[in-house]
Amino acid sequence: MSHTTNVDHCFQRAGFDKKRLFYTQGGYGLFQCSLPCKPLTYDNEDIIMAMRATDEGGKIPTELIPKCPHCGREMTTNLRVNNRFVEDEGWYKANERYGDFLRRHQGLKVLYLELGVGGNTPGIIKYPFWEYTGANPLATYACINFGEATAPLEIEKQAVLIDDDIDKVLTYLTKD
Ligand SMILES: [Zn+2]
Repeated sequence: MSHTTNVDHCFQRAGFDKKRLFYTQGGYGLFQCSLPCKPLTYDNEDIIMAMRATDEGGKIPTELIPKCPHCGREMTTNLRVNNRFVEDEGWYKANERYGDFLRRHQGLKVLYLELGVGGNTPGIIKYPFWEYTGANPLATYACINFGEATAPLEIEKQAVLIDDDIDKVLTYLTKD
């Protein structure tokens, strides 16, 4: 199960199973109504590609400005930038699946692998991982983070901290 604060849609583009991904902050790959009038999101790949095809110096034809199919207002990207962020059915399902995963593994042997969480939103992944690890003697916290691989003393014996480039480390770990 993967929990990400990235919004660049790279998990989806890499073919990562959507059912095992909780993109808690939304993503550039989805549109939502700017109001929003309904708690819905819309895959935007086709319209973005159409915009790119007609793009002239950063301008697109007026008819390509995305409009909400329900109220006609302009659409915006589904990103948690203000209190208008839409948490749609898929978001709630992913949130539930992630919560289920955490509950089912309480007290079991589990690895909380953190990849490159910075100081921007540590409260979403990093601090909870420290907490879950501290609460479970069978848990391991592993962190691969260039320049920021740290953990609190309380979980020192359960922590694997790798201060290096993630790509380099994963390539090394997965080679035969
Ligand atoms: Zn609308």
